[in-house]
Amino acid sequence: MPEKYHIKTKPIPPRRPRIGKYGIVDWREDCARCHNCVKKACIYDRHRMETEYIRNLNDVDVLFFDCMGCLYCVQNCTKNLLSLSINPTYKKLGNEYWTPDIILTTWNQAETAKIPVSGAGYKGKFSGHGFDSMWTDMSEIVRPTRDGIHGREYISTAVDVGRKASFLSFSERKLTNVNPPLIDMPMPIILDMQAEEYSLPDLNPILQETAKRTGIITIVDSSLYSTVQDQEDLSHIAFHIGSDSKMPPKEIMAKTNLVQIPDSSKVLDKIKEIKKSFPDIIVSVKIPLDSKGSKRAIELASNPEIEVLHVAADLNGNEIGTKNPRFVKDIVREIHTALVDNGTRDEITLITSGGIALAEHLAKIIICGTDLVAINLPLLIALECHLCKSCKPGQHCPAKLESFDFEYGVGRMTNLVAAWHDQLIEVMGAMGMREARRLRGDVGRGMFFEQLEEETFGKLFGTRK
Ligand code: SF4
Ligand code: SF4
Repeated sequence: MPEKYHIKTKPIPPRRPRIGKYGIVDWREDCARCHNCVKKACIYDRHRMETEYIRNLNDVDVLFFDCMGCLYCVQNCTKNLLSLSINPTYKKLGNEYWTPDIILTTWNQAETAKIPVSGAGYKGKFSGHGFDSMWTDMSEIVRPTRDGIHGREYISTAVDVGRKASFLSFSERKLTNVNPPLIDMPMPIILDMQAEEYSLPDLNPILQETAKRTGIITIVDSSLYSTVQDQEDLSHIAFHIGSDSKMPPKEIMAKTNLVQIPDSSKVLDKIKEIKKSFPDIIVSVKIPLDSKGSKRAIELASNPEIEVLHVAADLNGNEIGTKNPRFVKDIVREIHTALVDNGTRDEITLITSGGIALAEHLAKIIICGTDLVAINLPLLIALECHLCKSCKPGQHCPAKLESFDFEYGVGRMTNLVAAWHDQLIEVMGAMGMREARRLRGDVGRGMFFEQLEEETFGKLFGTRK
């Protein structure tokens, strides 16, 4: 059995006061001073913690909101003096897509590296926008795959990055193929460049160290090559060489395995130019998912020079610049299906970015047909970021990210990647899947609301408008 991929983690507590969802309002007036006050019976000890918190208040601008919302004390207070309230700061986190729930669960994973447990069943809507209109089929949750989850057997999250030969040829019992270069990634995640909209703290050194510790790759703008900490080991760095940017020096390039270039009319010439000097470097072409994005991806994929395509939706997973944007999962499904139909799917690698906010989204987008994802915002959120409406240098940052400890940043990002890895194994185990490579495009493991609705009610009521 190969050595298991394992990410070392340790709890990294938040730097700022916790912003939980619930708090208890205590209307002390008329308190009966019961001997067995319900506050003492809180199994999470939150009332005592709140008293301590208030006693140690310093220059803190946040109230104590860290109640678990079990309602025990609220229901059992003999005078009905307690009531549950939702934290107004919590409600203001993120935006419509990056909801407060997503931000809070990301903070918890970055702190503990553990799989989030919501408990007491699913309380959300039956279906919703984006990834919420898709479910994974967990019906295979049987002993052999549980063994994989508990580490007695191996569930592999490894994927390949690069172009693969469509067939092998032999002559006199010897392989005659010249196989293109391939990167073996231990999990289907790449750490993407920071989003332009959220560039307040410089995360580059943190992302590089996180990629190194987790054995994955981070994309770095080629203009920043001189800031790379460890100039000797660049296997975890992929330079993004913009249209007007220069390539990093030869000795730097020679130590990397992957580069990214933006799509353009001259993209094939650019690939040839890179390959001429560095035949072993894999070139990924980044295509924005605008109205022409999926068509362009399908067209490029049939070209034998193309090894990797990185299709990028906007930060919320929507098609870019269209009036009625499609969601990234639907676009990836379209691209994947077209490549299967024209017989090129197994030859190229597809990376997807935009709207991948939770570990479940990672599993779902792989089912839709991508090989791996590139993420950035979850890594920023891991550092207690609120995802404010505006994020510019010089403005007030509620997470105080103007400066923070290097180990804090790397530790929290590493914890998040580890938590996503564990959740991917968990979901794959429940689907009876032992390899992330085989999960790719296996839509039989997913259920799609629009499709089910059409099949069930379409004959009676017609197509939904
Ligand atoms: S609602 Fe539950 S968790 Fe919150 S303070 Fe009361 S007993 Fe504790
Ligand atoms: S908390 Fe707000 S200001 Fe600070 S990095 Fe995050 S989005 Fe930017």
